Amino acid sequence: MSTGLLTIRLDAIADNWRALASMSKGETGAVVKADGYGLGAKQVARELARAGARSFFVAVAEEAVPLRAILGEEATIHVFSGHMAGDTEMIRDLGLVPLINSIDQLTMHVEALPGHPFGIQLDTGMNRLGMEWEEWSAVAEIALGAGASLLMSHLACADEPDHPMNPYQLDLFRQMTDGTNVRRSLAATGGILLGPDYHFDLTRPGIGLYGGLPFEEAQPAARLDLPVVQCRTLTAGEVVGYGNTWQAERETRLATINCGYADGMLRSASGGGLTLWYDGAPCPAVGRVSMDLITVDVTDLGRDPEYLSLICPESRIDDVADAAGTIGYEVLTSLGSRYQRRYARS
Ligand SMILES: *Cc1c(COP(=O)(O)O)cnc(C)c1O
Repeated sequence: MSTGLLTIRLDAIADNWRALASMSKGETGAVVKADGYGLGAKQVARELARAGARSFFVAVAEEAVPLRAILGEEATIHVFSGHMAGDTEMIRDLGLVPLINSIDQLTMHVEALPGHPFGIQLDTGMNRLGMEWEEWSAVAEIALGAGASLLMSHLACADEPDHPMNPYQLDLFRQMTDGTNVRRSLAATGGILLGPDYHFDLTRPGIGLYGGLPFEEAQPAARLDLPVVQCRTLTAGEVVGYGNTWQAERETRLATINCGYADGMLRSASGGGLTLWYDGAPCPAVGRVSMDLITVDVTDLGRDPEYLSLICPESRIDDVADAAGTIGYEVLTSLGSRYQRRYARS
Protein backbone atom coordinates (compact mmCIF):
# COMPACT_ATOMS: atom_id res chain seq x y z
CA MET A 1 0.00 0.00 0.00
CA SER A 2 1.47 3.35 -0.99
CA THR A 3 -1.04 5.80 0.48
CA GLY A 4 -1.48 6.68 4.11
CA LEU A 5 -4.15 5.02 6.20
CA LEU A 6 -6.56 7.38 8.00
CA THR A 7 -8.44 5.54 10.72
CA ILE A 8 -11.53 7.32 12.03
CA ARG A 9 -12.84 6.05 15.35
CA LEU A 10 -16.59 6.49 15.29
CA ASP A 11 -16.93 5.16 18.85
CA ALA A 12 -14.61 7.92 20.09
CA ILE A 13 -16.71 10.55 18.32
CA ALA A 14 -19.88 9.15 19.90
CA ASP A 15 -18.19 9.04 23.33
CA ASN A 16 -17.05 12.64 22.95
CA TRP A 17 -20.61 13.66 22.08
CA ARG A 18 -21.95 11.84 25.14
CA ALA A 19 -19.33 13.46 27.35
CA LEU A 20 -20.21 16.95 26.07
CA ALA A 21 -23.93 16.12 26.35
CA SER A 22 -23.50 15.11 29.99
CA MET A 23 -21.96 18.56 30.65
CA SER A 24 -24.60 20.48 28.70
CA LYS A 25 -27.60 21.83 30.55
CA GLY A 26 -30.09 21.47 27.68
CA GLU A 27 -30.04 19.62 24.39
CA THR A 28 -26.71 18.88 22.71
CA GLY A 29 -26.48 19.26 18.95
CA ALA A 30 -23.62 18.38 16.62
CA VAL A 31 -21.75 20.49 14.08
CA VAL A 32 -20.88 18.41 11.01
CA LYS A 33 -19.90 21.21 8.60
CA ALA A 34 -16.86 20.89 6.33
CA ASP A 35 -17.52 17.18 5.81
CA GLY A 36 -17.59 16.50 9.52
CA TYR A 37 -14.37 18.47 10.10
CA GLY A 38 -12.73 16.41 7.39
CA LEU A 39 -13.62 13.03 8.90
CA GLY A 40 -16.70 12.25 6.76
CA ALA A 41 -20.01 13.99 7.50
CA LYS A 42 -22.17 11.04 6.49
CA GLN A 43 -20.45 8.48 8.70
CA VAL A 44 -20.10 10.92 11.60
CA ALA A 45 -23.72 12.11 11.43
CA ARG A 46 -25.06 8.55 11.29
CA GLU A 47 -23.00 7.61 14.34
CA LEU A 48 -24.07 10.71 16.29
CA ALA A 49 -27.73 10.12 15.45
CA ARG A 50 -27.34 6.61 16.87
CA ALA A 51 -25.80 8.12 19.99
CA GLY A 52 -28.88 10.33 20.36
CA ALA A 53 -28.10 13.62 18.57
CA ARG A 54 -31.16 15.19 16.92
CA SER A 55 -29.99 18.70 15.99
CA PHE A 56 -27.27 19.08 13.39
CA PHE A 57 -25.52 22.13 11.98
CA VAL A 58 -23.84 22.75 8.62
CA ALA A 59 -22.26 25.90 7.20
CA VAL A 60 -24.00 25.96 3.81
CA ALA A 61 -27.20 24.37 2.52
CA GLU A 62 -25.37 22.12 0.03
CA GLU A 63 -23.74 20.29 2.93
CA ALA A 64 -27.16 19.10 4.07
CA VAL A 65 -27.94 17.21 0.85
CA PRO A 66 -26.13 13.96 1.75
CA LEU A 67 -27.21 14.27 5.39
CA ARG A 68 -30.98 14.32 5.05
CA ALA A 69 -31.11 10.85 3.51
CA ILE A 70 -28.98 9.48 6.33
CA LEU A 71 -30.62 11.26 9.22
CA GLY A 72 -34.24 10.78 8.22
CA GLU A 73 -37.06 13.25 8.74
CA GLU A 74 -36.90 13.67 12.52
CA ALA A 75 -33.44 15.28 12.64
CA THR A 76 -33.25 19.06 12.48
CA ILE A 77 -30.54 20.36 10.16
CA HIS A 78 -29.61 24.02 10.70
CA VAL A 79 -27.65 26.11 8.20
CA PHE A 80 -25.30 28.77 9.62
CA SER A 81 -25.17 30.87 6.44
CA GLY A 82 -28.94 31.26 6.57
CA HIS A 83 -31.12 31.66 3.50
CA MET A 84 -29.04 32.73 0.52
CA ALA A 85 -30.15 33.39 -3.02
CA GLY A 86 -30.50 30.03 -4.78
CA ASP A 87 -31.03 28.07 -1.53
CA THR A 88 -34.82 28.21 -1.44
CA GLU A 89 -35.49 24.85 -3.11
CA MET A 90 -32.91 23.02 -1.01
CA ILE A 91 -34.25 24.57 2.18
CA ARG A 92 -37.81 23.60 1.22
CA ASP A 93 -37.18 20.14 -0.21
CA LEU A 94 -34.74 19.03 2.50
CA GLY A 95 -36.65 20.73 5.31
CA LEU A 96 -33.63 22.73 6.48
CA VAL A 97 -33.71 25.40 9.19
CA PRO A 98 -31.77 28.43 7.93
CA LEU A 99 -30.24 30.61 10.64
CA ILE A 100 -31.20 34.01 9.23
CA ASN A 101 -28.34 36.52 9.36
CA SER A 102 -29.78 39.81 8.09
CA ILE A 103 -32.98 41.70 7.38
CA ASP A 104 -32.51 40.91 3.68
CA GLN A 105 -32.36 37.19 4.44
CA LEU A 106 -35.42 37.46 6.66
CA THR A 107 -37.38 39.17 3.88
CA MET A 108 -36.26 36.58 1.34
CA HIS A 109 -37.18 33.72 3.65
CA VAL A 110 -40.66 34.83 4.68
CA GLU A 111 -41.54 35.81 1.11
CA ALA A 112 -40.17 32.66 -0.56
CA LEU A 113 -41.18 30.11 2.08
CA PRO A 114 -43.92 31.51 4.32
CA GLY A 115 -44.45 29.27 7.33
CA HIS A 116 -41.16 27.37 6.82
CA PRO A 117 -39.12 27.06 10.05
CA PHE A 118 -36.13 29.33 10.59
CA GLY A 119 -33.85 30.56 13.33
CA ILE A 120 -32.11 33.89 13.81
CA GLN A 121 -28.40 34.40 14.21
CA LEU A 122 -27.49 37.43 16.31
CA ASP A 123 -24.16 39.21 16.34
CA THR A 124 -22.96 39.84 19.88
CA GLY A 125 -19.61 41.35 18.96
CA MET A 126 -17.75 38.90 16.75
CA ASN A 127 -18.81 40.88 13.67
CA ARG A 128 -18.92 37.91 11.37
CA LEU A 129 -22.47 36.61 10.96
CA GLY A 130 -25.83 37.63 12.35
CA MET A 131 -28.02 40.64 13.01
CA GLU A 132 -26.66 43.42 15.15
CA TRP A 133 -28.60 45.08 17.95
CA GLU A 134 -30.22 47.76 15.76
CA GLU A 135 -31.29 45.34 13.02
CA TRP A 136 -32.67 42.90 15.55
CA SER A 137 -34.60 45.67 17.37
CA ALA A 138 -36.14 46.66 14.04
CA VAL A 139 -37.35 43.20 13.05
CA ALA A 140 -37.58 41.17 16.27
CA GLU A 141 -41.34 41.50 16.45
CA ILE A 142 -41.77 40.44 12.82
CA ALA A 143 -39.32 37.54 13.18
CA LEU A 144 -40.91 36.27 16.38
CA GLY A 145 -44.37 36.71 14.88
CA ALA A 146 -43.30 34.72 11.83
CA GLY A 147 -42.31 31.84 14.09
CA ALA A 148 -38.54 31.99 14.63
CA SER A 149 -37.73 28.73 16.40
CA LEU A 150 -34.15 29.35 17.59
CA LEU A 151 -32.12 32.42 18.54
CA MET A 152 -28.39 31.88 18.43
CA SER A 153 -25.08 33.69 18.63
CA HIS A 154 -21.43 32.63 18.56
CA LEU A 155 -18.61 33.32 21.04
CA ALA A 156 -15.38 34.75 19.67
CA CYS A 157 -13.02 33.83 22.56
CA ALA A 158 -14.59 30.81 24.25
CA ASP A 159 -11.31 28.88 24.12
CA GLU A 160 -9.90 31.48 26.56
CA PRO A 161 -12.03 30.97 29.69
CA ASP A 162 -10.90 34.21 31.37
CA HIS A 163 -11.38 36.42 28.35
CA PRO A 164 -13.65 39.39 29.14
CA MET A 165 -15.32 38.96 25.74
CA ASN A 166 -17.14 35.87 27.08
CA PRO A 167 -19.25 37.56 29.80
CA TYR A 168 -19.68 40.58 27.52
CA GLN A 169 -21.22 38.45 24.76
CA LEU A 170 -23.28 36.47 27.26
CA ASP A 171 -24.76 39.67 28.67
CA LEU A 172 -25.53 41.07 25.23
CA PHE A 173 -27.09 37.78 24.11
CA ARG A 174 -29.32 37.82 27.19
CA GLN A 175 -30.36 41.40 26.58
CA MET A 176 -31.23 40.60 22.98
CA THR A 177 -33.19 37.44 23.74
CA ASP A 178 -34.56 37.51 27.30
CA GLY A 179 -38.33 37.29 27.43
CA THR A 180 -38.75 35.99 23.89
CA ASN A 181 -39.69 32.45 24.97
CA VAL A 182 -37.82 31.10 21.95
CA ARG A 183 -35.17 28.37 22.25
CA ARG A 184 -31.66 29.78 22.51
CA SER A 185 -28.16 28.57 21.61
CA LEU A 186 -24.82 30.25 22.36
CA ALA A 187 -22.19 27.62 23.11
CA ALA A 188 -19.91 25.64 20.77
CA THR A 189 -17.29 23.33 22.34
CA GLY A 190 -15.52 26.15 24.16
CA GLY A 191 -18.79 27.60 25.42
CA ILE A 192 -19.86 24.26 26.89
CA LEU A 193 -16.64 24.25 28.93
CA LEU A 194 -17.36 27.79 30.21
CA GLY A 195 -20.23 26.38 32.26
CA PRO A 196 -24.02 26.22 32.40
CA ASP A 197 -24.59 30.00 32.18
CA TYR A 198 -23.50 29.71 28.56
CA HIS A 199 -25.55 26.64 27.60
CA PHE A 200 -29.15 27.84 27.20
CA ASP A 201 -31.40 25.31 25.41
CA LEU A 202 -29.11 23.85 22.75
CA THR A 203 -25.32 23.56 22.50
CA ARG A 204 -23.41 23.23 19.21
CA PRO A 205 -20.14 21.34 19.71
CA GLY A 206 -17.90 20.67 16.72
CA ILE A 207 -14.17 20.27 17.39
CA GLY A 208 -14.66 18.54 20.74
CA LEU A 209 -16.50 15.70 18.99
CA TYR A 210 -13.49 15.19 16.75
CA GLY A 211 -10.92 15.06 19.54
CA GLY A 212 -9.58 18.62 19.45
CA LEU A 213 -8.85 21.40 21.92
CA PRO A 214 -10.24 23.13 23.88
CA PHE A 215 -11.87 19.84 25.00
CA GLU A 216 -8.81 18.41 26.75
CA GLU A 217 -10.53 15.19 27.82
CA ALA A 218 -11.65 14.39 24.27
CA GLN A 219 -10.75 10.98 22.94
CA PRO A 220 -8.72 11.15 19.74
CA ALA A 221 -10.97 10.41 16.77
CA ALA A 222 -8.36 10.10 14.04
CA ARG A 223 -5.17 8.16 13.48
CA LEU A 224 -2.88 8.60 10.49
CA ASP A 225 -0.28 5.98 9.55
CA LEU A 226 2.02 6.71 6.63
CA PRO A 227 4.01 4.16 4.64
CA VAL A 228 7.77 4.52 4.36
CA VAL A 229 8.80 4.58 0.70
CA GLN A 230 12.53 4.21 1.25
CA CYS A 231 15.32 4.62 3.79
CA ARG A 232 18.88 5.83 3.20
CA THR A 233 21.99 6.63 5.21
CA LEU A 234 23.49 10.12 5.16
CA THR A 235 27.01 10.91 6.28
CA ALA A 236 27.50 13.92 8.56
CA GLY A 237 27.33 17.12 6.49
CA GLU A 238 24.87 15.89 3.86
CA VAL A 239 21.71 17.95 3.31
CA VAL A 240 18.04 17.06 2.90
CA GLY A 241 15.20 18.28 0.73
CA TYR A 242 14.21 21.45 -1.13
CA GLY A 243 16.34 24.42 -0.25
CA ASN A 244 18.82 22.19 1.63
CA THR A 245 17.28 23.46 4.86
CA TRP A 246 18.51 20.57 7.02
CA GLN A 247 22.04 19.26 7.38
CA ALA A 248 23.01 16.02 9.10
CA GLU A 249 25.26 16.56 12.11
CA ARG A 250 25.92 12.86 12.50
CA GLU A 251 25.53 9.75 10.42
CA THR A 252 21.76 9.69 9.91
CA ARG A 253 19.23 7.08 8.82
CA LEU A 254 16.53 8.89 6.90
CA ALA A 255 13.05 7.59 6.03
CA THR A 256 10.94 9.13 3.26
CA ILE A 257 7.17 8.83 3.73
CA ASN A 258 4.19 9.34 1.47
CA CYS A 259 2.51 12.44 2.87
CA GLY A 260 2.98 16.04 1.82
CA TYR A 261 1.26 19.36 1.64
CA ALA A 262 -1.07 17.99 -1.06
CA ASP A 263 -2.28 15.64 1.66
CA GLY A 264 -2.91 18.50 4.05
CA MET A 265 0.40 18.25 5.90
CA LEU A 266 0.89 21.98 6.06
CA ARG A 267 4.19 23.11 4.59
CA SER A 268 4.51 25.61 7.42
CA ALA A 269 5.38 22.64 9.66
CA SER A 270 8.79 22.45 7.92
CA GLY A 271 11.39 22.98 10.63
CA GLY A 272 8.63 23.52 13.20
CA GLY A 273 9.32 20.55 15.41
CA LEU A 274 7.01 18.11 13.65
CA THR A 275 7.41 14.64 15.13
CA LEU A 276 6.32 11.27 13.74
CA TRP A 277 6.04 8.14 15.85
CA TYR A 278 6.88 4.51 15.53
CA ASP A 279 5.63 2.19 18.23
CA GLY A 280 5.83 4.89 20.91
CA ALA A 281 9.22 6.25 19.79
CA PRO A 282 9.52 9.83 18.46
CA CYS A 283 11.17 10.48 15.09
CA PRO A 284 11.71 14.13 14.07
CA ALA A 285 10.73 15.31 10.59
CA VAL A 286 13.67 17.07 8.94
CA GLY A 287 13.90 19.35 5.91
CA ARG A 288 10.93 20.84 4.10
CA VAL A 289 7.54 19.23 3.71
CA SER A 290 7.16 18.78 -0.06
CA MET A 291 4.03 18.09 -2.10
CA ASP A 292 3.90 14.34 -1.60
CA LEU A 293 6.69 13.52 0.84
CA ILE A 294 8.15 14.15 4.26
CA THR A 295 11.65 13.10 5.34
CA VAL A 296 12.13 11.77 8.85
CA ASP A 297 15.20 11.07 10.99
CA VAL A 298 14.80 7.47 12.16
CA THR A 299 18.41 6.99 13.31
CA ASP A 300 17.50 6.45 16.96
CA LEU A 301 14.96 3.74 16.15
CA GLY A 302 17.81 1.42 15.29
CA ARG A 303 15.72 -0.18 12.53
CA ASP A 304 13.90 0.82 9.36
CA PRO A 305 10.19 1.28 10.07
CA GLU A 306 7.62 0.14 7.50
CA TYR A 307 5.33 3.03 8.45
CA LEU A 308 5.35 6.13 10.69
CA SER A 309 2.37 7.67 12.49
CA LEU A 310 1.63 11.37 12.20
CA ILE A 311 -1.62 11.43 14.17
CA CYS A 312 -1.70 8.89 17.02
CA PRO A 313 -2.12 8.89 20.80
CA GLU A 314 1.39 10.36 21.20
CA SER A 315 0.71 13.08 18.63
CA ARG A 316 -2.74 14.61 18.78
CA ILE A 317 -4.11 16.90 16.08
CA ASP A 318 -3.20 19.88 18.26
CA ASP A 319 0.43 18.72 18.48
CA VAL A 320 0.61 18.56 14.68
CA ALA A 321 -1.06 21.97 14.62
CA ASP A 322 1.54 23.45 16.98
CA ALA A 323 4.33 22.36 14.64
CA ALA A 324 2.57 24.07 11.74
CA GLY A 325 1.66 27.19 13.69
CA THR A 326 -2.07 26.55 13.41
CA ILE A 327 -4.98 24.91 15.24
CA GLY A 328 -6.37 21.37 15.31
CA TYR A 329 -9.37 22.51 13.28
CA GLU A 330 -7.14 23.29 10.31
CA VAL A 331 -5.18 20.05 10.58
CA LEU A 332 -8.42 18.03 10.44
CA THR A 333 -10.16 19.98 7.71
CA SER A 334 -6.97 19.89 5.58
CA LEU A 335 -6.72 16.09 5.58
CA GLY A 336 -6.31 15.20 1.95
CA SER A 337 -8.23 12.90 -0.37
CA ARG A 338 -5.36 10.49 -1.07
CA TYR A 339 -5.56 8.59 2.19
CA GLN A 340 -7.31 5.28 2.42
CA ARG A 341 -10.03 5.81 5.01
CA ARG A 342 -11.08 3.20 7.50
CA TYR A 343 -13.99 3.68 9.86
CA ALA A 344 -13.54 1.73 13.06
CA ARG A 345 -15.24 1.02 16.34
CA SER A 346 -12.61 -0.29 18.68
C1 LIG B 1 -18.13 25.91 13.61
C2 LIG B 1 -19.16 26.46 14.52
C3 LIG B 1 -19.51 25.80 15.71
C4 LIG B 1 -18.70 24.64 16.26
O1 LIG B 1 -17.57 25.19 16.89
P1 LIG B 1 -16.46 24.27 17.62
O2 LIG B 1 -15.49 25.27 18.17
O3 LIG B 1 -15.87 23.42 16.56
O4 LIG B 1 -17.14 23.49 18.67
C5 LIG B 1 -20.60 26.27 16.43
N1 LIG B 1 -21.27 27.38 16.02
C6 LIG B 1 -20.93 28.08 14.91
C7 LIG B 1 -21.70 29.28 14.54
C8 LIG B 1 -19.86 27.64 14.13
O5 LIG B 1 -19.52 28.34 13.03
